Amino acid sequence: MGKEKSMRKVSASRSSSRSQLAARALLRIDGKPVSVTVKLNPRARRLIVKVHPSTGEVSVVAPTKRSIDHAIDFARGETEWIAERLKQVPPAVPLGLGARILYRGEEHVIRRGEGRRTPVWIDREEGNRIIRVTGQSEHTARRVLDFLKREAKKVLEARAFYYAEQLGTAPKHVTVRDTASRWGSCSTQRSLSFSWRLILAPAFVLDYVVAHEVAHMREMNHGPRFWRLVEDLIGNAEKPQIWLREKGSALHRYMPKPLPQPRPHSG
Ligand SMILES: [Zn+2]
Repeated sequence: MGKEKSMRKVSASRSSSRSQLAARALLRIDGKPVSVTVKLNPRARRLIVKVHPSTGEVSVVAPTKRSIDHAIDFARGETEWIAERLKQVPPAVPLGLGARILYRGEEHVIRRGEGRRTPVWIDREEGNRIIRVTGQSEHTARRVLDFLKREAKKVLEARAFYYAEQLGTAPKHVTVRDTASRWGSCSTQRSLSFSWRLILAPAFVLDYVVAHEVAHMREMNHGPRFWRLVEDLIGNAEKPQIWLREKGSALHRYMPKPLPQPRPHSG
Protein backbone atom coordinates (compact mmCIF):
# COMPACT_ATOMS: atom_id res chain seq x y z
CA MET A 1 0.00 0.00 0.00
CA GLY A 2 1.43 3.36 -0.92
CA LYS A 3 1.39 6.45 1.07
CA GLU A 4 0.02 9.03 -1.24
CA LYS A 5 2.44 10.01 -3.93
CA SER A 6 3.05 13.69 -3.49
CA MET A 7 1.32 15.94 -5.96
CA ARG A 8 1.01 14.39 -9.33
CA LYS A 9 3.87 15.12 -11.66
CA VAL A 10 2.15 18.09 -13.17
CA SER A 11 -1.43 19.02 -13.12
CA ALA A 12 -2.99 15.96 -14.60
CA SER A 13 -5.76 17.48 -16.50
CA ARG A 14 -8.23 15.47 -18.36
CA SER A 15 -11.51 15.07 -16.67
CA SER A 16 -11.71 11.48 -17.82
CA SER A 17 -8.93 10.55 -15.43
CA ARG A 18 -10.55 12.20 -12.41
CA SER A 19 -11.66 10.08 -9.49
CA GLN A 20 -15.27 10.52 -8.55
CA LEU A 21 -16.48 11.00 -5.05
CA ALA A 22 -18.49 7.90 -4.25
CA ALA A 23 -19.13 7.83 -0.50
CA ARG A 24 -18.17 9.35 2.81
CA ALA A 25 -17.94 8.02 6.33
CA LEU A 26 -16.70 8.99 9.74
CA LEU A 27 -14.09 6.77 11.39
CA ARG A 28 -12.78 7.03 14.90
CA ILE A 29 -9.01 7.29 14.72
CA ASP A 30 -6.89 7.89 17.80
CA GLY A 31 -10.10 8.75 19.63
CA LYS A 32 -11.01 11.48 17.15
CA PRO A 33 -13.61 11.44 14.40
CA VAL A 34 -11.95 11.50 10.99
CA SER A 35 -13.85 12.02 7.77
CA VAL A 36 -13.00 9.44 5.11
CA THR A 37 -14.02 9.88 1.49
CA VAL A 38 -14.28 7.03 -0.98
CA LYS A 39 -13.35 7.84 -4.54
CA LEU A 40 -14.06 5.70 -7.53
CA ASN A 41 -11.22 5.44 -10.01
CA PRO A 42 -11.44 2.68 -12.62
CA ARG A 43 -7.72 2.98 -13.24
CA ALA A 44 -6.87 1.83 -9.72
CA ARG A 45 -6.05 -1.86 -9.43
CA ARG A 46 -7.14 -2.37 -5.84
CA LEU A 47 -8.36 -0.49 -2.79
CA ILE A 48 -5.82 2.10 -1.72
CA VAL A 49 -5.91 4.26 1.41
CA LYS A 50 -4.36 7.71 1.09
CA VAL A 51 -3.61 10.46 3.53
CA HIS A 52 -2.91 13.79 1.88
CA PRO A 53 0.50 14.87 3.23
CA SER A 54 -0.52 18.53 3.60
CA THR A 55 -4.24 18.65 4.22
CA GLY A 56 -4.62 15.38 6.13
CA GLU A 57 -7.54 14.45 3.92
CA VAL A 58 -8.14 10.69 4.25
CA SER A 59 -9.51 8.89 1.24
CA VAL A 60 -9.89 5.40 -0.13
CA VAL A 61 -9.63 4.81 -3.86
CA ALA A 62 -11.92 2.07 -5.08
CA PRO A 63 -11.39 0.52 -8.52
CA THR A 64 -14.99 -0.62 -9.08
CA LYS A 65 -18.48 0.27 -7.92
CA ARG A 66 -18.71 -3.11 -6.24
CA SER A 67 -15.65 -2.39 -4.15
CA ILE A 68 -17.07 0.87 -2.77
CA ASP A 69 -18.89 -0.97 -0.01
CA HIS A 70 -15.69 -2.64 1.15
CA ALA A 71 -13.71 0.57 1.04
CA ILE A 72 -14.74 1.88 4.46
CA ASP A 73 -14.13 -1.51 6.08
CA PHE A 74 -10.76 -1.54 4.41
CA ALA A 75 -9.93 1.90 5.85
CA ARG A 76 -11.15 0.70 9.25
CA GLY A 77 -8.52 -2.03 9.09
CA GLU A 78 -5.83 0.58 8.40
CA THR A 79 -6.55 3.03 11.20
CA GLU A 80 -3.14 2.59 12.80
CA TRP A 81 -1.40 3.41 9.55
CA ILE A 82 -3.73 6.39 9.00
CA ALA A 83 -3.10 7.69 12.53
CA GLU A 84 0.64 7.48 11.93
CA ARG A 85 0.31 9.47 8.69
CA LEU A 86 -1.96 12.07 10.26
CA LYS A 87 0.69 12.73 12.91
CA GLN A 88 3.07 13.76 10.13
CA VAL A 89 0.74 16.30 8.55
CA PRO A 90 2.22 19.73 9.29
CA PRO A 91 -0.02 21.98 11.37
CA ALA A 92 -2.22 24.32 9.38
CA VAL A 93 -1.29 27.99 9.21
CA PRO A 94 -4.32 30.10 10.10
CA LEU A 95 -4.54 33.35 8.19
CA GLY A 96 -4.68 35.51 11.33
CA LEU A 97 -2.71 38.60 12.36
CA GLY A 98 0.99 37.81 12.60
CA ALA A 99 0.82 34.80 10.28
CA ARG A 100 3.46 34.51 7.59
CA ILE A 101 2.20 33.39 4.24
CA LEU A 102 3.47 33.18 0.70
CA TYR A 103 1.97 35.55 -1.80
CA ARG A 104 3.28 35.39 -5.37
CA GLY A 105 6.22 33.42 -4.02
CA GLU A 106 7.32 35.98 -1.40
CA GLU A 107 6.78 35.73 2.33
CA HIS A 108 4.29 38.29 3.64
CA VAL A 109 3.24 38.91 7.20
CA ILE A 110 -0.39 39.66 7.99
CA ARG A 111 -0.82 42.88 9.97
CA ARG A 112 -3.58 45.20 10.91
CA GLY A 113 -4.19 48.12 8.59
CA GLU A 114 -6.09 51.34 8.93
CA GLY A 115 -7.28 54.29 6.98
CA ARG A 116 -8.17 52.77 3.66
CA ARG A 117 -11.47 51.97 2.12
CA THR A 118 -10.33 48.62 0.78
CA PRO A 119 -10.28 45.92 3.51
CA VAL A 120 -7.01 44.24 2.40
CA TRP A 121 -3.95 45.54 0.60
CA ILE A 122 -0.29 44.77 0.03
CA ASP A 123 2.17 47.05 1.79
CA ARG A 124 5.90 47.33 2.31
CA GLU A 125 7.68 48.64 5.34
CA GLU A 126 11.41 48.56 6.01
CA GLY A 127 11.90 45.75 3.56
CA ASN A 128 9.05 43.67 5.00
CA ARG A 129 6.24 42.58 2.77
CA ILE A 130 2.96 43.01 4.52
CA ILE A 131 -0.65 42.11 3.90
CA ARG A 132 -2.69 44.81 5.65
CA VAL A 133 -6.15 43.97 6.88
CA THR A 134 -8.67 46.37 8.38
CA GLY A 135 -11.37 45.57 10.88
CA GLN A 136 -11.73 43.26 13.83
CA SER A 137 -9.31 40.40 14.14
CA GLU A 138 -12.00 37.71 14.08
CA HIS A 139 -12.64 38.70 10.46
CA THR A 140 -8.99 38.76 9.42
CA ALA A 141 -8.75 35.22 8.09
CA ARG A 142 -11.93 35.51 6.07
CA ARG A 143 -10.85 38.85 4.61
CA VAL A 144 -7.40 37.60 3.68
CA LEU A 145 -8.88 34.49 2.11
CA ASP A 146 -11.38 36.56 0.10
CA PHE A 147 -8.55 38.82 -1.03
CA LEU A 148 -6.35 35.89 -2.11
CA LYS A 149 -9.17 34.22 -4.01
CA ARG A 150 -10.13 37.47 -5.72
CA GLU A 151 -6.53 38.14 -6.74
CA ALA A 152 -6.16 34.53 -7.90
CA LYS A 153 -9.22 34.79 -10.10
CA LYS A 154 -8.04 38.09 -11.59
CA VAL A 155 -4.51 36.92 -12.33
CA LEU A 156 -5.41 33.39 -13.50
CA GLU A 157 -8.08 34.71 -15.83
CA ALA A 158 -5.79 37.34 -17.32
CA ARG A 159 -2.97 34.84 -17.87
CA ALA A 160 -5.33 32.24 -19.35
CA PHE A 161 -6.68 34.69 -21.94
CA TYR A 162 -3.18 35.95 -22.65
CA TYR A 163 -1.76 32.50 -23.40
CA ALA A 164 -4.88 31.31 -25.20
CA GLU A 165 -4.69 34.27 -27.54
CA GLN A 166 -1.20 33.21 -28.54
CA LEU A 167 -2.65 29.88 -29.60
CA GLY A 168 -5.47 31.62 -31.44
CA THR A 169 -8.17 30.54 -29.04
CA ALA A 170 -9.94 31.62 -25.86
CA PRO A 171 -11.22 29.75 -22.83
CA LYS A 172 -14.96 29.62 -22.33
CA HIS A 173 -14.80 29.86 -18.56
CA VAL A 174 -12.01 30.27 -16.06
CA THR A 175 -12.99 29.13 -12.59
CA VAL A 176 -11.03 29.15 -9.38
CA ARG A 177 -11.45 26.39 -6.81
CA ASP A 178 -9.82 24.81 -3.82
CA THR A 179 -8.73 21.40 -4.97
CA ALA A 180 -6.23 19.28 -3.10
CA SER A 181 -5.26 16.95 -5.90
CA ARG A 182 -4.62 19.14 -8.91
CA TRP A 183 -3.48 22.65 -9.74
CA GLY A 184 -5.48 23.03 -12.88
CA SER A 185 -7.69 21.26 -15.33
CA CYS A 186 -9.05 21.73 -18.81
CA SER A 187 -12.31 20.29 -20.06
CA THR A 188 -13.06 19.35 -23.65
CA GLN A 189 -15.44 22.35 -23.64
CA ARG A 190 -12.51 24.74 -23.12
CA SER A 191 -13.39 25.38 -19.49
CA LEU A 192 -10.31 25.96 -17.40
CA SER A 193 -10.22 25.50 -13.67
CA PHE A 194 -7.42 26.36 -11.26
CA SER A 195 -6.58 26.19 -7.59
CA TRP A 196 -6.68 29.66 -5.99
CA ARG A 197 -3.54 28.63 -4.09
CA LEU A 198 -1.48 29.27 -7.20
CA ILE A 199 -1.57 32.96 -6.22
CA LEU A 200 0.67 31.97 -3.29
CA ALA A 201 3.30 30.51 -5.64
CA PRO A 202 5.85 32.51 -7.65
CA ALA A 203 4.55 33.99 -10.90
CA PHE A 204 6.58 31.59 -13.06
CA VAL A 205 4.84 28.65 -11.39
CA LEU A 206 1.36 30.10 -11.87
CA ASP A 207 2.22 30.91 -15.47
CA TYR A 208 3.36 27.36 -16.09
CA VAL A 209 0.15 25.80 -14.77
CA VAL A 210 -1.93 28.21 -16.84
CA ALA A 211 0.11 27.59 -19.99
CA HIS A 212 -0.14 23.84 -19.37
CA GLU A 213 -3.95 23.92 -19.21
CA VAL A 214 -4.22 26.35 -22.11
CA ALA A 215 -2.06 24.03 -24.21
CA HIS A 216 -4.59 21.28 -23.48
CA MET A 217 -7.18 23.31 -25.37
CA ARG A 218 -5.14 22.38 -28.44
CA GLU A 219 -3.70 19.02 -27.41
CA MET A 220 -5.70 16.90 -24.97
CA ASN A 221 -2.71 14.72 -24.15
CA HIS A 222 0.83 14.90 -22.84
CA GLY A 223 2.53 14.04 -26.11
CA PRO A 224 5.50 15.80 -27.74
CA ARG A 225 3.25 18.26 -29.58
CA PHE A 226 1.62 19.24 -26.30
CA TRP A 227 4.98 19.92 -24.64
CA ARG A 228 6.13 21.92 -27.64
CA LEU A 229 3.10 24.20 -27.20
CA VAL A 230 3.90 24.66 -23.51
CA GLU A 231 7.47 25.51 -24.39
CA ASP A 232 6.33 28.01 -27.01
CA LEU A 233 4.26 29.74 -24.35
CA ILE A 234 6.64 29.83 -21.38
CA GLY A 235 9.97 28.34 -22.37
CA ASN A 236 11.42 25.51 -20.33
CA ALA A 237 8.86 23.94 -18.00
CA GLU A 238 11.33 22.14 -15.78
CA LYS A 239 11.87 24.83 -13.18
CA PRO A 240 8.18 25.34 -12.33
CA GLN A 241 7.64 21.57 -12.35
CA ILE A 242 10.40 21.11 -9.79
CA TRP A 243 9.00 23.95 -7.68
CA LEU A 244 5.57 22.33 -7.63
CA ARG A 245 6.99 18.92 -6.79
CA GLU A 246 9.10 20.22 -3.94
CA LYS A 247 7.04 23.04 -2.52
CA GLY A 248 3.58 22.71 -4.01
CA SER A 249 2.05 20.66 -1.22
CA ALA A 250 3.10 23.28 1.34
CA LEU A 251 0.62 25.68 -0.26
CA HIS A 252 -2.15 23.56 1.22
CA ARG A 253 -1.06 24.37 4.75
CA TYR A 254 -2.62 27.80 4.58
CA MET A 255 -6.19 27.81 5.71
CA PRO A 256 -6.92 24.28 4.56
CA LYS A 257 -10.45 23.88 3.37
CA PRO A 258 -12.70 22.40 6.00
CA LEU A 259 -13.04 18.70 5.52
CA PRO A 260 -16.37 17.75 3.99
CA GLN A 261 -19.19 17.06 6.38
CA PRO A 262 -19.53 13.30 6.38
CA ARG A 263 -22.79 11.71 5.48
CA PRO A 264 -23.65 8.35 7.00
CA HIS A 265 -22.21 5.53 4.99
CA SER A 266 -25.11 3.60 3.58
CA GLY A 267 -24.48 -0.02 2.90
ZN1 LIG B 1 -1.85 18.08 -18.43
